[in-house]
Amino acid sequence: MNVLKNYINGAWTESLSKETIAVTNPANQEVLAKVPYGVDTRKDVELATESASKAFKEWCKVPVIKRVQALYKLKFLLEENIESLAEIITQESGKTRAESIGEIQRAIENVEVACGTPMLIAGDVIEDIASGVDEMMIRQPLGVAACITPFNFPSMIVFWFLPYAIATGNSFIVKPSEKVPLTMMKIFEFIDQLDLPKGLISLVHGGKESVDAILEHPSIKAISFVGSTPVARYIYSKGTANGKRVQAQGGAKNPIVILPDADIEMSSKIIADSVYGCAGQRCLAASTIITVNDQKGQIKEALYETIKSRTTGYGWDDNVSMGPVITPESKDRINNLIQLGIDEGAKIVLDGRKTSVSGYENGNFLTPTILENVALNKELIKTEIFGPVMSLVSMKNIEEAIQFVNSGNYGNMACIFTGSGANARKFRNEADAGNIGINIGVAAPMAQFPFSGWKDSFFGDLHGQGKHAIEFFTQTKVIIERWPKEWSCKF
Ligand code: NAD
Repeated sequence: MNVLKNYINGAWTESLSKETIAVTNPANQEVLAKVPYGVDTRKDVELATESASKAFKEWCKVPVIKRVQALYKLKFLLEENIESLAEIITQESGKTRAESIGEIQRAIENVEVACGTPMLIAGDVIEDIASGVDEMMIRQPLGVAACITPFNFPSMIVFWFLPYAIATGNSFIVKPSEKVPLTMMKIFEFIDQLDLPKGLISLVHGGKESVDAILEHPSIKAISFVGSTPVARYIYSKGTANGKRVQAQGGAKNPIVILPDADIEMSSKIIADSVYGCAGQRCLAASTIITVNDQKGQIKEALYETIKSRTTGYGWDDNVSMGPVITPESKDRINNLIQLGIDEGAKIVLDGRKTSVSGYENGNFLTPTILENVALNKELIKTEIFGPVMSLVSMKNIEEAIQFVNSGNYGNMACIFTGSGANARKFRNEADAGNIGINIGVAAPMAQFPFSGWKDSFFGDLHGQGKHAIEFFTQTKVIIERWPKEWSCKF
């Protein structure tokens, strides 16, 4: 079986670790490859950092306009190969074809925004801040930066960081999720075709050990992490204790409020996609749906009608709207959480636990589940499910709904569906979340905006994407200089 190589110092190289784990297709458990793992992957990080440090010295002197030329080429390579890349994403992560293509498009949008770095990186100047004295602030790169990414967006999340890091003059190391490393293998075939200094962008595999090596290496100056909250908290505390700049995005539990004045039919379709798209494995997947003053149960009925028609299957097959979850362990965890909700008093109105897809009997499939009357003060309402499960709760008014939204530990996203501008405005001002949707079910910021997150969904200050990314990957230098006019030479 093929053991995946790292990409270090501009070449495909075997890992120094002999230990491996399997990468499997979640739809049928087929082993797709073996990925290096274990304590010796630390040595791979060492090699990648060494070559990245050398490449940085050369790259930081290349004018920014030239640096972004490599990104233009990368954009075209991604576009040309979108179909084959999407198929790999579906194979290893289980997404549908449309979801896989959608995430590559979001990755490309980040490359496009980073191509604007010559403008985004511009500094500030004040002439004559005192007589004959000018002061300016410029931005310079940090050195070697690294990202550590989760399984649920094998291509896109790396692009919240990589294009900005490179455009601003840093070198970069990617450590993808060991569950979905194949997408990055393909993307590094494109990176290999760019005319870049050797070692400028590296790929290292592994799990906790390679991450720890990144956290400890003194030459790595910045770390971008996306994954679960416990690991995000660990990365942030260890990385910052080691003197690194860290942005760590964590888990989520996203609520959606639906008011009786919303367009119920349209809202139900959008909400269903938010909960069940990517089999609920999106950090912006809605989990708790709060119906407000739904006296006749119209909202519930519309949701139920939309949801029961969704089809589960292998993501690359036609007419499939939901693929499998990532691993059998993940499926068991979700099933246990559904049971927990029932034990805590919820009523199950759609049960997606006993699902088998013809031709894919070994897959980690679930179909949409709806739990009604979920207890507000119990465990299920607080825990990230990361699976295709909707928890329905009902509230009397918008005040009560906002209070509930703000009571959770996470703060990645909160959305409202309403026909009232005043209610929408109240919600966007008062809801404690970094990304707000109004009549939008997945409030994913476009690449021009930071991917905001609050509370236990984010540790750090500057987020990925857009101007925040430019700031994260640069340090400011303020220069103050005196050139009194009496010093001017007369020729
Ligand atoms: P995870 O935390 O298990 O893994 C993420 C990365 O951390 C992987 O590369 C993994 O190798 C590494 N890792 C895992 N355990 C580690 C440990 N103990 N020490 C050091 N490194 C470790 O997350 P996942 O299961 O791959 O992804 C799902 C999670 O990611 C969900 O909680 C989801 O909400 C979150 N997520 C958040 C965002 C966001 O923008 N906030 C986006 C996508 C996913």
